[in-house]
Amino acid sequence: MIDRRLALPLAVVLAGGSVLFTQPALASPAGHPMSPGHPAASGHRVEKKPVAEGYGGAVATVDLDASQAALDVLRRGGNAVDAAVAAAATLGVTEPFSAGLAGGGFIVYYDARNGKVHTIDGRETAPKAMTASSLEGIPFDEAVTSGLSAGVPGSVAQWELALRRFGTLSFRQALQPAIEVASRGFTVDQTFHDQVAANAARFADFTSTARLYLPGGAPPRVGTTFRNPELAATYRTLGREGGDWLYRGRLGAEIVATVKKPPVTPGSTRNVRPGLMEPSDLAAYRALERPPTKVTYRGMDVYGMAPPSSGGSTVGEALNILEALPGVGLHEYLETSRLAFADRNKYVGDVPGVPLEQLLSDGFAKERACLVGDRAMGNPAPAGSPDGSYEPCRPAAPAGEAAEEAPQGPETTHMVITDRWGGVVAYNITIESTGGNGIVVPGRGFLLNNELTDFTFGPAAGDPNLPGPGKRPRSSMAPTIVLKNGRPLLAVGSPGGATIITTVLQILVNRWELGMTMPEALAAPRASQRNTAQTQAEPAFIERHGAELTARGHVFAPTPEIGAATAVEFLRDGRLQAVAEPVRRGGGSALVLRERR
Ligand code: GLU
Repeated sequence: MIDRRLALPLAVVLAGGSVLFTQPALASPAGHPMSPGHPAASGHRVEKKPVAEGYGGAVATVDLDASQAALDVLRRGGNAVDAAVAAAATLGVTEPFSAGLAGGGFIVYYDARNGKVHTIDGRETAPKAMTASSLEGIPFDEAVTSGLSAGVPGSVAQWELALRRFGTLSFRQALQPAIEVASRGFTVDQTFHDQVAANAARFADFTSTARLYLPGGAPPRVGTTFRNPELAATYRTLGREGGDWLYRGRLGAEIVATVKKPPVTPGSTRNVRPGLMEPSDLAAYRALERPPTKVTYRGMDVYGMAPPSSGGSTVGEALNILEALPGVGLHEYLETSRLAFADRNKYVGDVPGVPLEQLLSDGFAKERACLVGDRAMGNPAPAGSPDGSYEPCRPAAPAGEAAEEAPQGPETTHMVITDRWGGVVAYNITIESTGGNGIVVPGRGFLLNNELTDFTFGPAAGDPNLPGPGKRPRSSMAPTIVLKNGRPLLAVGSPGGATIITTVLQILVNRWELGMTMPEALAAPRASQRNTAQTQAEPAFIERHGAELTARGHVFAPTPEIGAATAVEFLRDGRLQAVAEPVRRGGGSALVLRERR
């Protein structure tokens, strides 16, 4: 039985800056006091912490308000899908530079009722007028802040489909926690402040964005309360009218008008290219259920996101290659990632005929595995031939030209949620760049995405990721759920552009091959090899492993931070372990429903 009256906790900022929640006295649907096991029931403080262990349900997101919104839904009897939509909408308020209703994303869901894994593709689409050459010759930086890069939003359709198929709450109910956070406000933390500061120049170039995020001309100060009443009103109307308000109605018309004629601040010298989006593109949008990808790794079934994401196929192929090797360490992790990226770049996109089955076959993995030697292979590794005919050791084709890679930022966000029935959600949501395309829809309180910059700009004959009418740009998002003997074992995911794939893979290698616990596996320093000459690595990774790996031919380029993962593991003794980042992106928030059985 679901409590339809979702009420939210009060955020309290303590001296010293830590944020906690106290819960006003709430009644359960039947009017009973809340279970005494819940920390909030006793007015207990709920603190932002990276690891939580317990029972009955677990949540990990990058943000305490969003985790709390999800936990409140679970506590009232909602399931993991209900909680995921509530948390995603809340992230649109508190993490608006990574997530929002005008973005897109991928949900992977383990349904405990039938033991099946489902996925929902809410990826943005290109307008019908977009062709393979629409982005050609446009400087990447210019596309980032433009109407042209805004894809047709997918999140709203995805939320509605997820609730309709698997949820128990109405759309309006699921939006309620976000409406409350947007209305009453939340405390600006360092990450929020820094993300505005990093975007200040382009935010200032749009009247609507400057008005919302640069009040008084400067980023909101840390520790102050930030309210977004316009977004609260947007969510309220959306809840009442449903997604049609966006896909066929007034909100959609306003999005199209903003994309076509961005509200550029008078006097700005920025060249802001208009977009190609039409109301008919919005009306044509569908969120889609797709079969998940699946590979088996040492007896565990690893489920991921199929195209248009390359997350599931690339993580899956790399795991298959690792399994075919005699031993697995960090060298093997980097080399298999290199090979899997070579194949991803050549074969995966939103096109018919992606050879998914072959890319994920053991035969192909074995053929690829024999290219892994004692030393790092030459760059770039050529793509393999996932054609169904495999030799134990086919010599590598000559190296092709090194692929140019767009910069990978820390944008996007990932959450994991489990419910009392054993349902599990792994969900990546994004507006692409931190701050999306930088353009707030006037009066509506949300930023537009710039997801279409994930297309290959071209010219690039034969590239499966060139833009096209109605096409979804290839993603790297890799929400992942692992089952063992048909029961959930863990879920994991991360933001970080193409580094999402390597972060998920590295966490699994850390956990399964390097003897780490899940909290250790997330906290460990990261490196990301994506078939480029240099491997990006966090300074601590280079300090710890650089000498040994450099001796084997790896070349590292330091990068301050890779990813911001969240995970949950079902521990052997029946406890749930929710895990978020201890440090990266300001640290995340893990919560469990009950600390005791
Ligand atoms: N647009 C990216 C992707 O789908 C996600 C955003 C990011 O993390 O860069 O791969």
